[in-house]
Amino acid sequence: MDGTFRTAFVREPGALRHHPALVLNADYRPLSYYPLSLWSWQDAVKAAFLDRVDIVAEYDEVVRSPSMTLRIPSVVVLKDYVKPQKRVAFTRFNLFLRDEFRCQYCGAKGDLTFDHVVPRASGGITSWENVVAACAPCNLKKGSKSLRQVGFSLRKPPRQPGAQELLNMGRKFPPNYLHDSWMDFLYWDAELQA
Ligand SMILES: [Zn+2]
Repeated sequence: MDGTFRTAFVREPGALRHHPALVLNADYRPLSYYPLSLWSWQDAVKAAFLDRVDIVAEYDEVVRSPSMTLRIPSVVVLKDYVKPQKRVAFTRFNLFLRDEFRCQYCGAKGDLTFDHVVPRASGGITSWENVVAACAPCNLKKGSKSLRQVGFSLRKPPRQPGAQELLNMGRKFPPNYLHDSWMDFLYWDAELQA
């Protein structure tokens, strides 16, 4: 099990529909909030079997092999601390997360695209400082004009987020499914639906 395996979490994982395990770093904090650090039960069982994790909480259901019976882990904690990445990758997802999945001109959610604040035609580059999430109508209206020409203003000045900042941002977006046993280890900024 290498570092990639440990910290790669899929966002819409079919395999996580059944008995996923919340993965905590050695400090008992989730490795990531968005996407929430989850493993399929198969990965969690495998990691427990390889002694890479301690099982903190379990589901009622068990898995059986010819030689053993194991309750499916619902929370596991890594034995070795994984250092959080300092640098935040300039990706689509991270940029949307920085902008809280809202159009940075009008605040609309959904149907998001990217917009170059200083248009490319005017020499604007593709960077954290010059690209923001924008809804399709705002993007269309802005076209290759400047903010002043269309009378737009930005909700906040775009800049490169820190890793911790982005992690905290993720806490505003809890997933739809949360197992009870996870709640002791998660701190959400958003209010949860009962
Ligand atoms: Zn908009």
